[in-house]
Amino acid sequence: MMIDVQNPATGEHISSIPVFSASDVSAAANRAAEAAKSWEHTAASVRAVKLVNAASLIRSRQDSLAALLTREQGKPLTEAKSEIMGAAHVFEYYASVCGSIRGDAQNLPNYGYLNVIRKPVGVCAAIIPWNMPAIIFAWKVGAALACGNPVLAKPSATAPLTVQALGNTLHEAGIPTDVLQIITGNGGETGRALVDEPLVRHVSFTGSTATGREVGASAGRNLKRVHLELGGNDAFIVTKSADVKRAAAAAVRHRFYNCGQVCTSAKRILVHESCEDTFVAHAKDLIEQIHVGNGLLESKMGPLNNKDQLVFVSNAVDNIVSRDEGTLVTGGERIEGKGYFYRPTLLRDVTPEVVSEEIFGPVMYVIPFRTDDEAIQIANSTKYGLGSSVWTDRLAVAHKYADELKAGVVWVNKHLILPPEMPFGGVGDSGFGRENGMDFIYEYTEAKSILFG
Ligand code: NAD
Repeated sequence: MMIDVQNPATGEHISSIPVFSASDVSAAANRAAEAAKSWEHTAASVRAVKLVNAASLIRSRQDSLAALLTREQGKPLTEAKSEIMGAAHVFEYYASVCGSIRGDAQNLPNYGYLNVIRKPVGVCAAIIPWNMPAIIFAWKVGAALACGNPVLAKPSATAPLTVQALGNTLHEAGIPTDVLQIITGNGGETGRALVDEPLVRHVSFTGSTATGREVGASAGRNLKRVHLELGGNDAFIVTKSADVKRAAAAAVRHRFYNCGQVCTSAKRILVHESCEDTFVAHAKDLIEQIHVGNGLLESKMGPLNNKDQLVFVSNAVDNIVSRDEGTLVTGGERIEGKGYFYRPTLLRDVTPEVVSEEIFGPVMYVIPFRTDDEAIQIANSTKYGLGSSVWTDRLAVAHKYADELKAGVVWVNKHLILPPEMPFGGVGDSGFGRENGMDFIYEYTEAKSILFG
């Protein structure tokens, strides 16, 4: 069976991908387990060279990879290019830390001499969503390979082609074809088979909270390691000591980037009541200047990636407006035509409770607050906790928020910046486990203790 891949800006057919059945997945896992025997014993320096080669090949192909990403995902070319270059940088990072993946040694009087070595976990599954396929592929695959594991990477059915192209590029760079395999298909059949496959010992999943629960339950039943990066509904908090215009420009940039389809987008914009009018006026101006259109042309914002997303976003906004739970300032409608375009939207004076669920699209909702304690209470009132930001020029205020916000990441006067050196992941319904930083060593290796008498 094959799945059609379409351009969300035009509806044009781009390509088709095969659906891996459970037996295809099992055959791939067997090849990976066999390949693990030599990959595990490949010197860290050799693995590092292959990852650096991969990064240079990706950089040399940035234009074609970015165009492919735009065609299947919808984002503007400039964003696609920065994501591709970001993926190259991630492989360089993992190359640079390959040699740091090591254990420990300790002399224990009366017991002996203890060596703790780090062994690869075995066959890993990397399950990737459609919103940022290149960078999420690089995070998961870079970490697994650096630690000496083979990996089966499954992209989403609506944006699989860039991941396939990156897979081929890594093979050309010297990563053996059985050590990295791209498993295409849908979630219900192929994704499930991958998570259930007994030879897969580690699952790293990025996607929706609902699917994450299912993946976590299956991994639990089969006693395999699991790492879940799920949805977010993060707060972007503009305190009364913030540079309001700078904060408004950043909020617009980080809310409408990738058409609002980023787990750590600035989703709930909490603005001190004293600066709400200035913030809204400035944000409205900037939002109305966003040119929406085909990402391959001169647009600043592309379409949503698929029809389900468009329907979800459109219904969510209609509900808020029709129930008088927020005031529409600009946008609030589909752009007619073939693509899944939605006008960049700003809602103000939104009741915090109505946006407790994530809206994965180009919709900014401004929620006013009176005190820092109230802002923290609103920010922490959802079940999610991925990445929040606070905007202030007062250090004590920054410290208070950084300490009290429930989130895996807190930015101060920044948002959405995720260098590979920084551990990234969520709390609560945003999942558990961390990508990047040096925490990946604990994710992708097992400690083995050897006590010499
Ligand atoms: P999704 O959960 O439907 O799919 C994610 C991936 O899982 C896809 O590759 C899909 O094919 C696969 N999948 C689906 N069902 C599966 C199953 N039963 N078993 C195994 N795999 C399965 O999510 P989506 O619609 O692709 O992505 C959008 C959502 O993901 C948003 O809610 C967003 O917040 C979240 N997301 C989170 C992060 C993060 O880093 N935390 C990043 C991107 C997206």
